[in-house]
Amino acid sequence: MKQIDERDIMFSRMILKKGSKEYEEYYKKHPKRKKVDDNLRNKSNIFSNQKAEKYSKLSSPLVDAGFQYLADIKHLAEGKTTSEKVETNPKEITEQLKIFTKYLGADLFGITKLNNNHYYSYRGREGNYGKKIRKKHKYAIVFLTEMKEEMISKAPNIEMTMASVKGYVKAGTIGMWLAYYLRNIGYEARNHLDGNYLLVAPLVARDAGLGEIGRNALLLTKEFGPRVRIGIVTTNLELISDKKRDFGFLNLCNACKKCAKECTAESISFDNFSAKEKISIDQAKCYEKWSELGTDCGICLDVCPLSHNVPASLLNKLQQRNREVIGEILKY
Ligand code: SF4
Ligand code: SF4
Repeated sequence: MKQIDERDIMFSRMILKKGSKEYEEYYKKHPKRKKVDDNLRNKSNIFSNQKAEKYSKLSSPLVDAGFQYLADIKHLAEGKTTSEKVETNPKEITEQLKIFTKYLGADLFGITKLNNNHYYSYRGREGNYGKKIRKKHKYAIVFLTEMKEEMISKAPNIEMTMASVKGYVKAGTIGMWLAYYLRNIGYEARNHLDGNYLLVAPLVARDAGLGEIGRNALLLTKEFGPRVRIGIVTTNLELISDKKRDFGFLNLCNACKKCAKECTAESISFDNFSAKEKISIDQAKCYEKWSELGTDCGICLDVCPLSHNVPASLLNKLQQRNREVIGEILKY
C-alpha cells in the first residue's frame, strides 16, 4: 500500500493560508479540492462557532480547552534519553509495559514492528509542514482508551465530542508518561498524540492485533467497536510484537453498511471492499458536517453494532463467516 501524505488530511488542508507558497503548491497538485477547501476554511473553528447547530455555551469551550491543552504539550513528544540503559530483555520489558500502560489507564494494549507504510510520507501540521518523514523507530507500543457508550449514544451532540477529546487527552498523557519513562531508563522513545502523529494510527493499531479497519475508516475493536482513541509510543527498545488478527469484521461491514446509511453527509461508501483495499471516507463532506454541527458528529460510531456490547461468544464466531452470526450482531 502507498504511504499516506499527512498534507492530504482535512486538518492539514484547513491550516493552509491562502496565497502562501504551501497553499499554491498544494492546490496546483490537487486543483479539484481548492473550491471545497476554500469554502470550509472560511468557516470558523468547529468547536467555537456559536452559531453551529449543537454549540453549547458551557460544554463546547471544555472541548476546545482539551484540544488547546494537547496543542500546548505536543512539543514534548520527543526528547533525549536521560541515563545509561537499564538492562532488560524483550519478554521482561514487554510484560512491564503492558502492566504500566494499563495501570496508567489504557484499556487495550498491543505492540507491532513498524514498516515505512505505517508512517505518513510527509508532515502536514504547523511547524513541520512538508517535512519528509523517515522511519526512525523499530517498534510501536499501541494503547487504546475507551469512549463510553452512554456518551457516544448522544451523537451528534456535544457529549460525543467530549468523549472524543477526553480519549485524545488520556491517550496523549499516557503516551507522554511512557515516552518519558523509556527515555529515563536509557531508550529512545517518541509519543504520538493528537496533532503530532508521524504514523497512521489505525493502521499501526490494526497491525498490533487490536482490531481491523471498518467501512467508516475507523479502527473496529472486539471490545468496544469503534469507540476508542489510539495512543502510540515508538521506540528502538527490543520488544515482543503481537500478531495482526482477522476478527471477521470485513464480512460484517460488507453485510451491514449501517454507517453508510446513517451518515447524513454521505461520506461513507456503500461499495463492498476486500482486505487489500485502503478504506477511506469523503473527508471534505465529513468535515463540512462537523462545521455545521459544531461537534465531531460521531453518528458512524454510534450506529455501529460493535459499539454496543455484543456478547464475546458471538464475536468469537464471526471469523467463521456464518450468516446467522452476522444477522445476530446486526441487531445490536
Ligand atoms: S463522523 Fe458523521 S459525517 Fe463523518 S463519516 Fe461519520 S457519520 Fe459521516
Ligand atoms: S456500522 Fe456496520 S458497516 Fe459500518 S463500520 Fe460498523 S459494522 Fe462496519
